[in-house]
Amino acid sequence: MPPPVPKASEPLAAPAGAVAGKVPAPAEPRSAIQKALDKLGLRRDIDLALHLPLRYEDETRIVMLKDARDGDMVQIEGHVTNSEISFRPRRQLRVTIDDGSDTCVLRFINFYPSHQKTMSVGALIRVRGEIRGGFVGREMVHPSFKLAGGELPGALTPVYSTVAGLPQAYLRKAVLGGLGRADLSETIPAPFLSKKLPQTLLSLRQALQFLHHPTPDVALSVFEDRSHPAWQRLKAEELLAQQLSQLQARRVRAAMRAPPLLNSGLQNTQCTLHDQLLERLPFRLTAAQQRVGAEIAADLNKNIPMHRLLQGDVGSGKTVVAALAAARCMDAGWQCALMAPTEILAEQHFRKLITWLEPLGVKTAWLTGSQKAKERREALAMIASGEAALVVGTHAVIQDKVIFKNLALAIIDEQHRFGVAQRLALRSKMGDGGQEPHLLMMTATPIPRTLAMSYYADLDVSTIDELPPGRTPIVTKVVNDARRDEIVERIRAQVAEGRQVYWVCPLIEESESIDLVNATQTHEVLAATLPDALVGLLHSRMPVAEKKAVMSLFNEGLMAVLVSTTVIEVGVDVPNASLMVIEHAERFGLSQLHQLRGRVGRGAAASACVLLYSTGDAPRLGETARARLKAMVETNDGFEIARRDLEIRGPGEFLGARQSGAPLLRFADLQTDTDWLEWARALAPQMLDQHADLARRHILRWLGGKAEFLKA
Ligand code: ADP
Ligand code: MG
Repeated sequence: MPPPVPKASEPLAAPAGAVAGKVPAPAEPRSAIQKALDKLGLRRDIDLALHLPLRYEDETRIVMLKDARDGDMVQIEGHVTNSEISFRPRRQLRVTIDDGSDTCVLRFINFYPSHQKTMSVGALIRVRGEIRGGFVGREMVHPSFKLAGGELPGALTPVYSTVAGLPQAYLRKAVLGGLGRADLSETIPAPFLSKKLPQTLLSLRQALQFLHHPTPDVALSVFEDRSHPAWQRLKAEELLAQQLSQLQARRVRAAMRAPPLLNSGLQNTQCTLHDQLLERLPFRLTAAQQRVGAEIAADLNKNIPMHRLLQGDVGSGKTVVAALAAARCMDAGWQCALMAPTEILAEQHFRKLITWLEPLGVKTAWLTGSQKAKERREALAMIASGEAALVVGTHAVIQDKVIFKNLALAIIDEQHRFGVAQRLALRSKMGDGGQEPHLLMMTATPIPRTLAMSYYADLDVSTIDELPPGRTPIVTKVVNDARRDEIVERIRAQVAEGRQVYWVCPLIEESESIDLVNATQTHEVLAATLPDALVGLLHSRMPVAEKKAVMSLFNEGLMAVLVSTTVIEVGVDVPNASLMVIEHAERFGLSQLHQLRGRVGRGAAASACVLLYSTGDAPRLGETARARLKAMVETNDGFEIARRDLEIRGPGEFLGARQSGAPLLRFADLQTDTDWLEWARALAPQMLDQHADLARRHILRWLGGKAEFLKA
């Protein structure tokens, strides 16, 4: 057990070890405690009951000092033989206790008069802390303490994660109360229970009772590896809740209506937009693009709203698939909206789509936050009248003022960059008669299978698993920052061949200005080194117009080198760019690195990605940073990258970055609990069909209000 770290901020009047006795009256008004509980998400009794300990303290035994070894976390009981305030090395309270076998000094750097009172000479006290061999004998620093007496608890003492303003003692009491009051009656129908949970037939109540207050004979390792039947029960319950709610969301959606996008409005003689677009493309679709196109078309033909994720590695050609879907929608006489997370990306789409579709007579409206009032008014009018069949833009597309005439298909690029609320807002744009638009979401970060089965079970997934032909694989090199000069030479060579280069600098939120300096300096150095070439700078603080100007110079091939912060992270498409340099690559996440690398290798020329790293003051890179860079060198495959990313980061963070809105698993682990996942997947439909009431109770118990989010 790790020793408790004494924190100066923790009120010592309620030491972590004060359990056996009564909980002191709250020092703060009740509302402050309530607020702290709220912050932890502990609103209902069941939430409290499911707030499991981080670890346990063993207060069931009193150890003799002579038997305690250095570093042990122990509880001892003895008489105070001395108590004094000393001033060396700094002001502190030093209390000596004697338990008959040995003595020990308790040191308190922060203390109140009450400390001295409780631990006055002659008092018999019970103390808990880490024993150390001090300079002048054995000692404990900031142990918890109280007057001796009172029975020893029969169970281990739980230690919960908490927040400022909520001392352990209060939280323990709250959890105990919640555990007592919560409805923990069985929700898993008996036949399903016995089928899969033979050695796990603890009831939820038994499992929670045990996990909050385990008996001291249990090996601590069973808590750590979560193998105990009590843990198994919780994992099963949690995964079942997740599967039930996803399946329920899917069924709710299946009961909703969307306009089927059959191109019934067209005469046979008339060639559809879709077919014309296909004909005019300068390339043939890959087999994968054709396959996903057909999957999407099948969805669009139905009167149930599509809810499909199109995943494909960077550069796999998702945009054209989206354009073809949009064309189908317009062929059926409905409007389509495409939303991208950044203005640069949205504009790329806009330009591409108008070059493809405008010659075919499609009117497209453009909406962003930065546009002029007049321009926007015109766009809004075109959208409301239906004159614009296609709307492209940023978040501006989902603002209240945007009223569509007849929206039927919403396409979201880089869906993980949008929050749940935004997806919901887009869906509410349909307007009339309780219908919903079809939803197509695109992502370049493929979702590993286990996650797709759990968090995204309510999503149909289409995958582009092949790159357009003629691409040469990108060669990735990891280079120490000390060899920067060589890289600059390499850039010179690329530029001399008429190729274009990206140089990306990291952006850490806390020190945006430092990074700006970093990017600016790099820009200056490169500009000075390459006097004949145009070297541009792009960062998030620049005015939009300036950003656009830089981007279009680069797009048109007039700018040879683009130094930028991560604003170019997604979607930028300049096939002539063949070298990507990423500075401080050790600071980037794996999927971000992969996304950035995907900006090159889009044309026929051999492309390279250089990952410049710096170890700072450390002798070498940290382990996870090394694992990330290694993965980058070893594979170009987005699926493999995603798998390794999940491995390195764990699903919590992996999903966190996506703002998925899906409640994360707290107890189950998708990597190791695949058995339970399969069990829950099989059980969920039967339970919804045959035991709807139990299913509802189960979802409510585990997800409460959060289940709402799954509908997005
Ligand atoms: P992403 O999937 O990363 O969004 P894009 O849609 O931007 O990829 O496509 C990358 C590049 O590949 C674009 O220049 C696009 O025009 C081109 N492209 C797409 N499909 C094909 C294809 N079947 N054959 C050749 N080039 C293609
Ligand atoms: Mg894209």
